[in-house]
Amino acid sequence: VLGSDFLSRLTGSFSTGAASNPTVWMIEAAYRFHKLDWRYINCEVNPENLKFAVHGAKAMGWIGFNCSMPHKIKVIDFLDDLSDSARIIGAVNTVVISGSRLLGENTDGKGFLKSLDAVRPVKGAKALIFGAGGAARAVAIEIALAGCKELHVVNRDPGRGERLAELVSSCTSTKTCFSPWLGRFQIPDDIDIVINCTSIGLPPRVDVDFQVDTSTLLPRMTVADVIANPANTKFLQSARDRGCTVLDGRGMLVNQACIAFKLWTGHEPNSEVFKAALAEIAL
Ligand code: NDP
Repeated sequence: VLGSDFLSRLTGSFSTGAASNPTVWMIEAAYRFHKLDWRYINCEVNPENLKFAVHGAKAMGWIGFNCSMPHKIKVIDFLDDLSDSARIIGAVNTVVISGSRLLGENTDGKGFLKSLDAVRPVKGAKALIFGAGGAARAVAIEIALAGCKELHVVNRDPGRGERLAELVSSCTSTKTCFSPWLGRFQIPDDIDIVINCTSIGLPPRVDVDFQVDTSTLLPRMTVADVIANPANTKFLQSARDRGCTVLDGRGMLVNQACIAFKLWTGHEPNSEVFKAALAEIAL
């Protein structure tokens, strides 16, 4: 039976290199599963066109959109308000358009935290993060806000790493320190959770040597990676070989998409639908 409403609700994503972003596949599957006449349009947008894309989405009555690399910081210039964590992190990956107002949220860290929670509690834990870019900032802030006791930041660029450690100590009660990443890093033996938040493992950096002394990865440690494609990074494989509990980046990807779905539609997502969609495309 034909309905009388032919106007779908629109959402989507703006990024450069959009073709490799699988979020569209998961969210469209969820719209179908929940019988919502909604669309998610994956758009290739280069930096000079971001402003026009955002204004266009607003003009066309979009409900919201994701922003991926390289727009997560620049998009803030075009928004009306930010959630508390997006303000602290200084980056936005999800925008909700409500009437004429654009609200920026950051779900990177929240998505990671949810998948970590399923494996081990972060409250009271001592964590070590490799990296200090956008993903690292989001993960560091969220795990600190969730009660991580101590956070050790390790990064190649010392200025960036120190800024992240200072940000976490100034905004949360987590005890934080920074170490420059020089040579094969030795993980202190009292660390509970080790997280790769660098882009090592993501093509074309699949074979970059992850400079860590793997003998310092202990079986009692939980080792996580934010890289979702390919999910079994060399770093995670070394942790698995050492008997650690491992967590790959797919859970973070699924959870983020679920959070965006809920923010836009107001419906409680069935995360199994997102996972099944991701499995279909065999990341
Ligand atoms: P950025 O470019 O902001 O940061 C990259 C980080 O990686 C920096 O800390 C950089 O160090 C470090 N790095 C890169 N190459 C090397 C190397 N050869 N040796 C040591 N350090 C290196 O990227 P993002 O933080 O935005 O993203 C990082 C990764 O997170 C991406 O690969 C992305 O796919 C993934 N991600 C996954 C998500 C998911 O849902 N699973 C969500 C968001 C991101 P330096 O500061 O020294 O340059």
